[in-house]
Amino acid sequence: MSTIFTHISKIHGLTSPEKIKFGKEMSQVDSLSNAYLRVDNGRIVEIGSGNPTVNENDEIIDLMGKDVLPGFVDSHTHLVFAAPRHEEFSLRIKGASYEEIAEAGGGILNSAAKLRLMSEDELFDHAYERVKSMILHGTTCIEIKSGYGLSVDSELKMLRVVKRLKETFPIVIKATFLGAHAFPKEFKQQPDAYIDLILRDMLPAVIADDLADHIDVFCDRGFFTVEQTERILLQAQKYGLPSKIHGNELGLTGGVQVAVKMQSWSVDHLEHCSEVEFELLKGSFSKDSGNGGYGGTMPVALPGTSYFLGIPYAPTRKMIDFGLPVVLATDFNPGSSPIHSLQNIASLACTQMKMLPEEVFHAITCNAAHSLRLSEELGSLGVGMRADFLVMKTSDSIKTIPYFMGQNQVERVFIEGQEFFA
Ligand SMILES: [Zn+2]
Repeated sequence: MSTIFTHISKIHGLTSPEKIKFGKEMSQVDSLSNAYLRVDNGRIVEIGSGNPTVNENDEIIDLMGKDVLPGFVDSHTHLVFAAPRHEEFSLRIKGASYEEIAEAGGGILNSAAKLRLMSEDELFDHAYERVKSMILHGTTCIEIKSGYGLSVDSELKMLRVVKRLKETFPIVIKATFLGAHAFPKEFKQQPDAYIDLILRDMLPAVIADDLADHIDVFCDRGFFTVEQTERILLQAQKYGLPSKIHGNELGLTGGVQVAVKMQSWSVDHLEHCSEVEFELLKGSFSKDSGNGGYGGTMPVALPGTSYFLGIPYAPTRKMIDFGLPVVLATDFNPGSSPIHSLQNIASLACTQMKMLPEEVFHAITCNAAHSLRLSEELGSLGVGMRADFLVMKTSDSIKTIPYFMGQNQVERVFIEGQEFFA
């Protein structure tokens, strides 16, 4: 018995053989009009136009002329956190910079201090509500980082919360170990001793309990140097743990260089990024396009952070014109991007970064899926893919998502063919 979804105005984001979209291809959406979808055991088994063949036991769900899109993929979040940071919000409104606040013990260290005091159950309860709300806004795959623990116990506590979220929700959730998010106060004078702690104690414990799918390092001015980043990633490679890094948020600080050298799956932020970096990123794809290689280092832009901190936006318009495949993510976190809806990120990308709605669509679906190496099963809709899709409120949804800033354009969410209810 299968479920057939009928009367779909248009299915957008059909699976293409390449799975990801580079440069100009980002503006060309593959769609099918007057469509239906057949789902069996959580997977799409048929997509067609017109009237489907209906067997005796098939369940029919009439989507009444609405659009269907693949569920959105948020490849960069910090959604396990203890508390919002409104005090810093006010300080910044009065003129303090993110770096000044971090220097004074605010920022990530502020989040770490609060998280260390909170119980695992309470952290889970908060994170649970956030994930639920994200799904209702169309996000059906989420990457979640640790990095507000900064001690062995607290980093493991965060990652255990992510593990519980994975077990609780039907969506795909991926965990990233980000012990190298900031130097904890007690290591400020001896940064390399903190790297030793990460490598000697944290990473082996994370691996032993199978708590992470990737590793991440905040490689930037005032945070981790290129050399420290490389040291951490080399060790992670020995465990077979792929990397995604925070780079070039605060300057041209070598983040792209180290990411490409270490074959990171993505380099995220890129508020500062020049043609030298564009070339390196592009080269990372041409070297091994597809055939069992690592699949290139995807550039991930986080416009919520630029908006919220008032810093430059990543030059994604130039990246796309250069032929790169761009990804957008929320960076959902309490300090620099308390934005959890990719629809709002879509709007910022159009108005502030001059991306077209169609380009934005690919940046939050198939390209985002590739940055997690999941584009073979989600991020587009085709036979064999997970039936994770959205029924939209209108029939011209790709354009209305960024247009109606702050209004949820998603009407219904299906995960593996089952409707998600809050
Ligand atoms: Zn981040």
